[in-house]
Amino acid sequence: MTEKTDWTKSSWRNFTALQQPNWPDEAKVDEVLQTISNLPPLVFAGEIRDLKLQLAKASAGEAFLLQGGDCSEEFARCTAPNIRETLKVLLQMAVILTYAGGKPVVKVGRIAGQYAKPRSSDTEMVNGMEIPSYRGDMVNSVEPTPEARIPNPENMLKGYYLAASTLNLLRAFTRGGFAALHRVQAWNQEFVKQSPMGRSYERLAKQISQAINFMQTIGIPTDTPQFRQAQFFTSHEALLLGYEEALTREDSTTGGWYDCSAHMLWIGDRTRQIDGAHIEFLRGVLNPVGMKVGPRHDIDEILAIIEKLNPDNEPGRMTLITRFGAREIEKYLPPLLRAIKKEGINVVWSCDPMHANIRKTRSGHKTRSFDDILSELRCFFELHWAEGTVPGGVHFELTGDDVTECTGGARQLLDDQLGENYLTTCDPRLNAEQSLEMAFQIAEMIRS
Ligand code: PEP
Ligand code: MN
Repeated sequence: MTEKTDWTKSSWRNFTALQQPNWPDEAKVDEVLQTISNLPPLVFAGEIRDLKLQLAKASAGEAFLLQGGDCSEEFARCTAPNIRETLKVLLQMAVILTYAGGKPVVKVGRIAGQYAKPRSSDTEMVNGMEIPSYRGDMVNSVEPTPEARIPNPENMLKGYYLAASTLNLLRAFTRGGFAALHRVQAWNQEFVKQSPMGRSYERLAKQISQAINFMQTIGIPTDTPQFRQAQFFTSHEALLLGYEEALTREDSTTGGWYDCSAHMLWIGDRTRQIDGAHIEFLRGVLNPVGMKVGPRHDIDEILAIIEKLNPDNEPGRMTLITRFGAREIEKYLPPLLRAIKKEGINVVWSCDPMHANIRKTRSGHKTRSFDDILSELRCFFELHWAEGTVPGGVHFELTGDDVTECTGGARQLLDDQLGENYLTTCDPRLNAEQSLEMAFQIAEMIRS
């Protein structure tokens, strides 16, 4: 294995870190981080290794990655119903995609730590007043006042505890019968019954039920973990490097360093500078790492970053999450696919059809349309198939709530209906129905 020269969990401090909060009191930051570094890890090295193996399969086309959750989790919405509904929708999507794709679906939530946000501008105008931007609940508060926007280091500690609490419930739900296959499928049937587009999803839903019934009929035991439990992993953007460092621990069995704040971490499109602190930090931890790639990228730099993050070309280590937008994916994805393929680099190719499809409505809501999202996804699959590369996963901002944040879908949500239940503090999410529809639509594309 390549020696990780000069890396320590603190070496990122010698590099420039973009998108870090302007903490008013550095001594307080150090104190909080010291406290977190003495608290237990949130996830374990063995689980992280397991995810990496599953992602290695996804890079080879033998599994499929489904990653999704809030753009930005909120402390105030860390409740049992919210966690349950997000998990539920991801489990439902996973069953549909597993059946249609004929391969295991690796389920990764944007959850239990997705509390910090990069922003395009340090300040925003609210009611004629310029105030610091909201940077996620781990940094400051969303209320539009100058006071609420002062970064508070204590929020990192609170975020740690809420992530622990979220994970605890996720583990209970996924192990304790909530995720049982027949239950998840019953929810899917319920969805199909209620959806205005139900008829077009009915056939697939029926086939899944028949497959489950068949297994029961011939006496395959269904009280096994395969039927009654789900494996669910967590992820968030590794943005606040102090927090990530405080949860980075040396694995007692292998001596490797793991960032135990989540199973998978990703680097945002705004913080992936090759000589920046985020790349420096992530190159030394052994977790699976995602990297967002938007239209403004340089292919040679992407190759150089991958070489830095994954010098041994280990399958499952790197996921490239492309987010080019429905209008630009045809321009940007093929050259990138060819360059990576030519170098023989192992990556999971995942599509984030959310982040380059944002628009603002006349009433000022940030939204995305179901059709744009679907259109980017469709291009993603087709371009991969044309190039002979593997479309290995999808990345969504979604919620189990009945929100009105993205337009379109079977209920044909319009711009002027967005105000009805627009809850997000950051980017617009697919609601539960739109998410399931998206899964049925992808299912049609990938049916083997
Ligand atoms: C996000 O995933 O919420 C995000 C900010 O993405 P990106 O880095 O791709 O803009
Ligand atoms: Mn977002």
